[in-house]
Amino acid sequence: MTLFSRSHRQTGSQVTSNVMTMTTSASVPTESEGAIRGGTVTDRLVDANGRYAAEFTDPGMDARPVLHVAVVACMDARLDLHAALGLELGDCHTIRNAGGVVTDDVIRSLTISQRKLGTRSIVLIHHTGCGLEAITEDFRTELEMEVGQRPAWAVEAFRDVDQDVRQSMQRVRTSPFLLHTDDVRGFVFDVKTGLLREVDPA
Ligand SMILES: [Zn+2]
Repeated sequence: MTLFSRSHRQTGSQVTSNVMTMTTSASVPTESEGAIRGGTVTDRLVDANGRYAAEFTDPGMDARPVLHVAVVACMDARLDLHAALGLELGDCHTIRNAGGVVTDDVIRSLTISQRKLGTRSIVLIHHTGCGLEAITEDFRTELEMEVGQRPAWAVEAFRDVDQDVRQSMQRVRTSPFLLHTDDVRGFVFDVKTGLLREVDPA
């Protein structure tokens, strides 16, 4: 089978066009290395989606999470939230970013989750061996030196994962936008054992 796709992306005044060809057995280089490398993995995902959709039947679900829970977690590739927590499709909202940090944007999602989609509980999950323990706020300076602009966002690097979970719980509990802050619990997921360890909020 040969899959042929074409996409156009407009960035500012520049228009780029990517044309990629892929077979099921091997990718065929047709453009620059970067475009091929990016296209190959995305084409693989799209291919997998075709198989997924072929087996898919509309579960007829409401958008409101069945378990009324929102999970905020690190984006780490080793953390399979649904498998690790016994969650199924439709059970929860998952909000992920680097570190599982409670940023303004996470508060935005949690606010919509609670006020518009009925969630009431919040689970915060950090994990062992997080990349944010390996960098510091100096990363912002490094970026400024390289690109001439300092990012407005904080890196949110941390040294003590338990303390960072406690800070995250505190940010959630003190947010004026959230309706439900009585059931907020924080955990550290061990990427070696798969076990969650709860962090004492005190
Ligand atoms: Zn992480």
